Amino acid sequence: MNPVSNERDRSQVRKRPVAVLGATGAVGQTFIRLLENHPWFELAEVAASERSAGRKYGEAVRWVSGGQVPESVASRTIVACDPGKVSSDIVFSALDSSVAGEAELAFAAAGKLVLSNAKNHRMAPDVPLVIAEVNPDHLRVLETQRRNRGWQDGGGIVTNGNCSAIVTALALAPIHERFGITDVFVSTMQAVSGAGYPGVASLDILGNVIPFINDEEDKLETELCKFLGSLGNGTGEIVSAPIAVSAHCNRVPVENGHTVCLSVRLRDRATAGEVEAAVHEWRGAGVARGLPSSPERPVEVIDAADRPQPRRDVQRGGGMTVVVGRIRADSLFDVKLVAMGDNVVRGAAGASVLNAELMVNCGLLPR
Ligand code: NAP
Repeated sequence: MNPVSNERDRSQVRKRPVAVLGATGAVGQTFIRLLENHPWFELAEVAASERSAGRKYGEAVRWVSGGQVPESVASRTIVACDPGKVSSDIVFSALDSSVAGEAELAFAAAGKLVLSNAKNHRMAPDVPLVIAEVNPDHLRVLETQRRNRGWQDGGGIVTNGNCSAIVTALALAPIHERFGITDVFVSTMQAVSGAGYPGVASLDILGNVIPFINDEEDKLETELCKFLGSLGNGTGEIVSAPIAVSAHCNRVPVENGHTVCLSVRLRDRATAGEVEAAVHEWRGAGVARGLPSSPERPVEVIDAADRPQPRRDVQRGGGMTVVVGRIRADSLFDVKLVAMGDNVVRGAAGASVLNAELMVNCGLLPR
């Protein structure tokens, strides 16, 4: 992927109007927060279910995103998730998966570029599943997607991963790039905000660990391999990396931040120290650097034994940095480590906004 703009051009990017679908949910609210005062995007429309459509955003939303509803959005009238009611060409989707599948197809067919957080289209081979710093080249399959589906005028779907899959892929990308990974065992501890609002019943989660999250293990096992996969030779589609992944997903009584414990088998032998150096040196794809939402370091190694720690990361890095620690030898595979990331920012809305910035930088957004 080649950036099309130099520094001078970037400062002249005109603000593009964008819409948020599912704007009232946990991820939708994070979009609202991240898009307030964004240098390249102007939040023009908010959409949600028929229950909310027609109401003022500030009255319909149950705001759980910290602070107050931004004033500029509180008085906006929510529209229905119907492409005929939304004029922006760039649409961030934070829709519930029960409706995202059909709704996102309808928006793409209407010529809108959908940046989705829902699971529905992630694993289609002609749909890019992108982390800006890890696999920006996968955006090339948009061409195949538009050809396959007959979409014109810039319509298309680009997806974000599952929140735990994004945290895991960012922690493992530096290791896979340097040494190759053949096997991964991953056990997650996922915050309640990952289930949206109202999410998990308090009587189920208070003082408890729930060793089951519907569909989550399958998503983590398959999406990780797609993130670390490659563009298939001549097919114009993504081929997942041949990595054996075994995932255990658990819900824990933590408000925000997903933690993953990983054991990894390497293709090329390396010590824990060499793996730590590779993670420490990694800055991700050059094309994703210097964008408004790019963190200084997509992955940061913390060497204290009781870190990673979510709140500190949220305060320092705006929630876009995945913190990695306790990189050590593993008696079963080769190395083991712990990673933690903000599930609603890096694992959802923030990653989508960064993908949109990447697409601006690469000239891939509708004109
Ligand atoms: P949520 O809090 O339950 O919000 C769901 C949103 O979808 C609300 O705005 C809701 O609008 C809207 N919606 C529900 N039914 C609808 C319908 N029939 N038509 C139109 N809109 C409808 O969920 P969330 O946690 O924000 O998650 C949103 C999406 O992101 C999901 O697909 C989820 O899997 C994914 N995701 C979430 C996280 C996370 O950490 N939370 C991370 C990664 C990905 P109303 O308020 O009007 O009902």
